[in-house]
Amino acid sequence: MTAGVTVLGIDIGGIGIKVCLLDADGSVVAHDRIPTPPGGEAMVEAAAALGETLAADQQRRIHAAGAGVAGVVEDGVVTAASSSFTDWTGYPVRAALETRLGVPAVVMNDVNAFLVGEATLGAVRAERDVLGVTLGTGVGGAVWLDGALYLGRSGAAGEIGHMPGFGSEPCTCGQAGHLETLASGRGVARRYLAGGGAPLTDGAAEVAARARTGDELAGRVFREAGAGVARAALMVAAVVDVVDVVIGGGLAQSPDLLRPAIEAAVAAEPPVSGRPVRIHFAALGSLAAAVGAASQAAIPIQSGA
Ligand SMILES: [Zn+2]
Repeated sequence: MTAGVTVLGIDIGGIGIKVCLLDADGSVVAHDRIPTPPGGEAMVEAAAALGETLAADQQRRIHAAGAGVAGVVEDGVVTAASSSFTDWTGYPVRAALETRLGVPAVVMNDVNAFLVGEATLGAVRAERDVLGVTLGTGVGGAVWLDGALYLGRSGAAGEIGHMPGFGSEPCTCGQAGHLETLASGRGVARRYLAGGGAPLTDGAAEVAARARTGDELAGRVFREAGAGVARAALMVAAVVDVVDVVIGGGLAQSPDLLRPAIEAAVAAEPPVSGRPVRIHFAALGSLAAAVGAASQAAIPIQSGA
């Protein structure tokens, strides 16, 4: 372990920016979050300023930074992003962070960063092969193979959110029947309303709360989301023989609703390998992507446990 080393972890998403300070043993020293401002430059500045404030509070100096960000990232630059982001596609995040902070930085996709975090310091750190799934506003996925992130030819390996075969409802990507229509926060809220549910003011979290109080429609929408995730996990298990699945994102705040639905579905159709699919919920919570990205920074971080 390198004594006194502090790495800044950053997670830039559509709604919020989360930052944390990590010790070399992977422990989180401090963390904070702010709403995401519009524009690439403003997002990086907000993240860097918040990180510096945390470091000053802790009387620490930042030695390196790692950022998990929404969108496709190639060589530190965002090459594709949702249309909900302003001035983000084409933005050189790594160069901007390095200039602003004066330390080396790594930048990666936020779902990949989530899986790196959980596979190195979180719920599946004992596993060699893992499918990572984020059930947030949308559905993201990533694959950890032989102890490392597997990106695929175009960096899209494990992107199960836009895999077809999950009904016929329109997806945010413009196609239809994708897993995201069933298992995203947005999908859960939309399906609940479409089924005749009472108006929502807090989206999927409110559907979850109603499911817990016996709202049959809310319970069914969550069961169908879980069954969708299970089918996707079974397909991945069939193709690459990966049976450990770690689930994060806002919907994963409701494991009491999701876990029974997912486990019933995977038990009903076990992989031909005979190895059962094992469902894990994220251990690093909403900090998984920031921690995962920080763990990939220039200074090595290893689990102290
Ligand atoms: Zn789609």
